[in-house]
Order: sequence, then structure tokens, then C-alpha cells
Amino acid sequence: MKKKLIINLMLCAGLFTSIQAQQTVKTLDKDKMTPGMTEIMDPEVKIIQPAMIAGDAPSDAIVLFNGKDVNSEWEDSKGNPTKWIIMDGALVCVKGSGVIKTKRKFSNFQLHIEWKTPSDVSGDGQGRGNSGVYLQGLYEVQVLDSYNNRTYRQGQAGSLYKQYAPLVNASRKPGEWQSYDIIYTAPSFGSDTTIYFTPPRVTILHNGVLIQNNVSLRGPTVYVGIPEYFIKKHGPESLVLQDHGNPVAYRNIWIREL
Ligand code: MG
Repeated sequence: MKKKLIINLMLCAGLFTSIQAQQTVKTLDKDKMTPGMTEIMDPEVKIIQPAMIAGDAPSDAIVLFNGKDVNSEWEDSKGNPTKWIIMDGALVCVKGSGVIKTKRKFSNFQLHIEWKTPSDVSGDGQGRGNSGVYLQGLYEVQVLDSYNNRTYRQGQAGSLYKQYAPLVNASRKPGEWQSYDIIYTAPSFGSDTTIYFTPPRVTILHNGVLIQNNVSLRGPTVYVGIPEYFIKKHGPESLVLQDHGNPVAYRNIWIREL
């Protein structure tokens, strides 16, 4: 019982280090405790301004694309201005121009990104409205027109490509705007820098629907073969958007570092 109390107190008192908490609570007798002893006022939780409209950026977000300017936050893979174009307030992939990546690098984050596949449907399977959001430039969240377009399940929209199929297919029709809200926890590495100490973890909502629930990745996305842990240690990395040859559009991209 006392052990359970100690654990509960340590969870409540998040600002304590575990050693401090143990030293403090060891001397406490539950019968002599008052409610106020587990009610922590300081430091006050940071106050931010949520958006007036769901999906828009809260006050503490970094806006990565606002519909007007791409060059301040994005560049091509070589660090040059991207050839992707802005059309009607959206950032549109230009076939053959290559990926774009953020100039900033991120570790843990909450990302909101909206995307649209062409209303003029052409191709099928992986060839229809294909792009992708690469978390830390390594782990692809698939962007695809998955409305009436069967492909392998771990390759459809909302999949963690070739690792996890989405829990459901929440796709809208081609030509309609869709959203991903992605919560990402970066991996950590132990002394052996070729394997994860803790692997990357991802939660995704597609159009507001939970489709990936805190899944643990095996390794960076690969097209051929099975993703494994044999990777090099990495720190913060850019967010990358894929050029897969289809004119997929993006808008309202913002990120909150966690
Ligand atoms: Mg893709």
C-alpha cells in the first residue's frame, strides 16, 4: 500500500526528480496527509491561445506554410529554393522537382498538415495522388488517393509506409481537402548507435479520425525489404514532403515542438 502511495505521489508531483520524490514521500503517512499536499500550483501551466477555428494554428505553433510564402521555411534536398509552386494558396508538388524539406529541424512534435489529391483522377494504386510526409525525413506517413483505389494495406493513405496500415480508411474524395494531425515521439539511442533505445512512436488522426494509435516503428521507411533497426543515430531532422510525380497540394501546415 505504502509502495503504491509513493508511486502515486511521484506521478502527481511531476516536478520532483524520482530521488527527491522518494526521499520526500518516504516520511509521509497517508493518514496524516491533506488534499493540498498533492495539489501543486507552481510552476503555472503555460497559457497559450487556441485557434478560433479547429485545425488552425494555436499561438505557440510554428507556421510552416501560410498559403503565401514557401521559401522562408522550405528548401529542396540540396538547400536550394524549391520548384514546387504556390497555386490558390496551396503548395503544389511539381513532378520531377524532388522533395522539399523544412529548414528547421525537429524532434518531438504535434504536426497539422492538410493535403489534397488531384480531382482529375488518373492512374491507380500507388500511382494515384501519391506523396508523403516524412517525419524526421526518415519515416513516411503515406499521402495517397485512397478513395475507391485499392492498394496494399500498409501503403494506402494514412499508413506508416510498409509498416502499419491505418486502422480505418477515412479518405475523402479526390479534390477534397483532407487533414493529418500527427503526434510524433522521436527515437532515442543507447550506446550502440545503430539500434533504437526507444523507437519512434506515432499517433495520427486522418480527417479527425484516429488511424494510428501510438505505434512503434521498426526503422526508417524502405521501399524494398523489411525495415530494421540498422540505422545510424540521428538527432533533430527536417520534415520532408515527397515528390512522387503527382501534383498533390498542401496547405495550413503548422507544428508544435513538444
Ligand atoms: Mg508516398
